[in-house]
Amino acid sequence: MTETRSRQIVIVGAGIAGLTAALAFAERGFPVRLFEQARQLEAAGAGLQLSPNATRILRRLGVLERLLPEAIRPQAVVLKDARSLRELARVPLGQAAEQRWGAPYLVAHRADLQAALMEAVAERPDIELVTGARVTGIAVDPQGISATVETDGKATDVAGGLLVGADGVWSSVRAELAGRQAAFMKSRFSGRLAWRATVAAESAAGQIFAEIGSADCVTTFLHPGFHMVAYPVSKGRAVNLAAFTKGERIAEGWSGHADPAILSKAVHDTAAMLARLVALAGPWTAFPMHTVQQQRWTAPQGIALIGDAAHAMTPFAAQGAAMGIEDASMLANLIADFPGDPTQSLTVWENLRRPRVERVLKRGALNRLAWHAWGPVAIARNLVLATRPAEKLAADLDWLYGWEERKAVRR
Ligand SMILES: Cc1cc2nc3c(=O)[nH]c(=O)nc-3n(C[C@H](O)[C@H](O)[C@H](O)COP(=O)(O)OP(=O)(O)OC[C@H]3O[C@@H](n4cnc5c(N)ncnc54)[C@H](O)[C@@H]3O)c2cc1C
Repeated sequence: MTETRSRQIVIVGAGIAGLTAALAFAERGFPVRLFEQARQLEAAGAGLQLSPNATRILRRLGVLERLLPEAIRPQAVVLKDARSLRELARVPLGQAAEQRWGAPYLVAHRADLQAALMEAVAERPDIELVTGARVTGIAVDPQGISATVETDGKATDVAGGLLVGADGVWSSVRAELAGRQAAFMKSRFSGRLAWRATVAAESAAGQIFAEIGSADCVTTFLHPGFHMVAYPVSKGRAVNLAAFTKGERIAEGWSGHADPAILSKAVHDTAAMLARLVALAGPWTAFPMHTVQQQRWTAPQGIALIGDAAHAMTPFAAQGAAMGIEDASMLANLIADFPGDPTQSLTVWENLRRPRVERVLKRGALNRLAWHAWGPVAIARNLVLATRPAEKLAADLDWLYGWEERKAVRR
């Protein structure tokens, strides 16, 4: 393999994971070609919680300073009973989070994070971002990997030393690998829908939220049949709402439609004000939650899957994007630290990332059980939350939010 080809990084997909990977590889001196099928990068209208394990990496890559003017530092995560609206627990964030975990806990509009990443990418001459370019095939030869990229109906082969599949939960890179090796799997519908709406803070719905939630916090309303997370975005001008219910499979895509009756039914025995907020907040878009659990995330020939393409998860721990950011940063650093043998770096990367992601998956599963608990289990949960000091609730999250790549790799 020529030196130039072996250093060329080809990334498929310019979502949060792909854009972060482009910056992380460029930072370590690799030329990057990044292909995105959409003509224009449009972030689905929704918010994101960005915990310190992710913002620490964004700070290193020069993204955080661009995001901060638009982001909000919530003062706490507050859990409330959706029927009584009683506060069940409060985990302090704000300054306390920054002191404890060494980087800020933020909430932001997804579009603002994407814009900050894009701005940083645009400043790097070593990153070539091509939009309207869909990767339709990959091939491996003794010289490296190559991707077939279709732009305006024309197909071109693009060669490189490493191909990073950052093309999301319905990844075509993963599908291609699944056709060749049983270790790669299709995504699975989780049987749940994520409903999303953004309301202006001054609207009737926004004012109800101000009464039943906390304007400067992440508020999660818990109920056996559903839960809803609400927090301010766009410097407090809007409130992001994400509600989760069971539901039938709908068409794949970030902003789909499902029968609104499912959501109205899910909130029918919650507090009247919460049900009213949900009714006023439309139009809601629906996202069919798919997960990806597979034996491998890498192929030794020089292919790595990162972010949702590797391990899409339900958002009960609010960590999907954060895991993509961690994946991207660690992959670039390991490839740079062990030059000459990408196969070894890929194996080391996968072995280091897998236990971390699995622990996050377990935390998400625990949150789902706790948040949707009913009857005696809900009573026990409320008792535990009421008696556990806030300091202990924060300490329970040290492994997650205090994670540092340097320590995980022990460089
Ligand atoms: C309701 C909800 C709330 C969430 N909240 C949080 C949260 O608070 N915090 C958090 O960390 N995570 C959260 N997540 C998870 C997070 O949104 C995802 O994990 C994250 O967006 C995945 O990023 P990605 O870059 O891996 O994939 P994507 O964002 O899906 O990006 C993939 C990109 O690849 C492109 N692409 C696909 N195929 C091709 C191809 N063949 N050729 C070229 N380009 C291609 C796509 O167009 C897309 O731009 C949430 C998810 C949901 C549904």
